[in-house]
Amino acid sequence: MSKIVMKFGGTSVGSMELIGNVAKRVQLEKEKGHDIVVVVSAMGKTTDDLAEMASKITNNPTKREMDMLLATGEQVTMSLLAIQLNSLGVETLSLTGWQAGIVTDEVHRNSKIKQLDGQKINEHLMANRVVIVAGFQGMSELGEITTLGRGGSDTTAVAIAAAIGADICDIYTDVDGVYTSDPRYVSHARKLEQLEYDEMLELAHLGAGVLHPRAVEFAKNYKIPLRVRSSYEETEGTILKEEVDVENNLVVRGVAFESDIVRLTIEYTVPFNGSLASIFTTLANNHIDVDIIVQSIVEGMKPTVSFSIKKESLSEAIHVLEKKKQNLGFTFADFEVGLAKVSIVGSGMVSNPGVAAQMFDRLSKENIPVKMVSTSEIKVSVVVPQGNMIQAANALHDEFDLAIN
Ligand code: ADP
Ligand code: ASP
Ligand code: MG
Repeated sequence: MSKIVMKFGGTSVGSMELIGNVAKRVQLEKEKGHDIVVVVSAMGKTTDDLAEMASKITNNPTKREMDMLLATGEQVTMSLLAIQLNSLGVETLSLTGWQAGIVTDEVHRNSKIKQLDGQKINEHLMANRVVIVAGFQGMSELGEITTLGRGGSDTTAVAIAAAIGADICDIYTDVDGVYTSDPRYVSHARKLEQLEYDEMLELAHLGAGVLHPRAVEFAKNYKIPLRVRSSYEETEGTILKEEVDVENNLVVRGVAFESDIVRLTIEYTVPFNGSLASIFTTLANNHIDVDIIVQSIVEGMKPTVSFSIKKESLSEAIHVLEKKKQNLGFTFADFEVGLAKVSIVGSGMVSNPGVAAQMFDRLSKENIPVKMVSTSEIKVSVVVPQGNMIQAANALHDEFDLAIN
């Protein structure tokens, strides 16, 4: 008998019929004698629809009220699924994030789980109940409802798995595993049987939306076996582990991409005096994630620094920096919208120089301009025009032989 966390994403619970299928799947696992916690997302595109409703009122709703609004989506699913399971004769109860004991920080719309006491869930499991928990939501220490960022139900699932000491956390979704790249856009993407936490972490951070990055972080830190599986068919899926056997000695294991990137360039009007730190502290204090940073100091020219952020943060970034620009001694030189980031990831890159060169060579053959570059031990990312994103992803997938079995 095992303790299992089963997480079902939005498309998997998108209709009453699908909720019925999920209930049957949960019932099947329960009948095998396992202890089951189910984590659910909002039905279908509910979260988008709720955000859309708010945007009809204003472009700038308070983050607190957005959390109040968005947290309702998951509650609809959890109660419908519980009603369904109870009517099948499986004793079940649903819990909101805060009822399940999920305590987060105070950052609305992108909060982090600080504490999760698994005792309450464990008590229900001991009483032989299936427990359903609403994904994506928690409560701050001040008693405010918070949400964990888009895609955050994955993180709820893995955090619960860690807190209750689950044997495995299964993420059921609309693909049957993690692929070498998003199968919706990269035609020869191939399903991976196994993947290292670190590789998945990079892929998730770099735009592979199949798993929320913090879910992978939790799984890695607490050594939770994490599996991505299809919610429609009975296949094995992809298992994430500390280390996996290297398939075909492939150096690159995956290609990820992300659209809606903006590049801002700042020019210093006064000699450099440490204001680089002040600029990025200002952005960090306002919870604006900065990605690639390129500083250019050439003799005889004013120093500049370019950095990339997500498009959704642009107006806030400009707003907070504008207020400081006199003090910090810079002007905005340029900003470019309509960019995307394409990345190659693989832990074998550490010992294989020349991967970046091969990447740039292929992009140049494809006539794709590279606007920014960033590398780490296990990835190379380039910023390219958004119109070239899918072409670049497919070309790099081909260049590094990822379609080969
Ligand atoms: P859910 O609603 O179940 O959380 P998501 O839409 O968040 O589902 O995640 C599943 C989607 O992730 C897939 O439909 C696929 O388009 C996308 N995706 C992006 N990168 C990958 C990848 N490397 N492997 C598999 N799916 C990916
Ligand atoms: N419902 C939330 C979203 O759409 C959380 C999730 O599905 O993981 O982002
Ligand atoms: Mg998701």
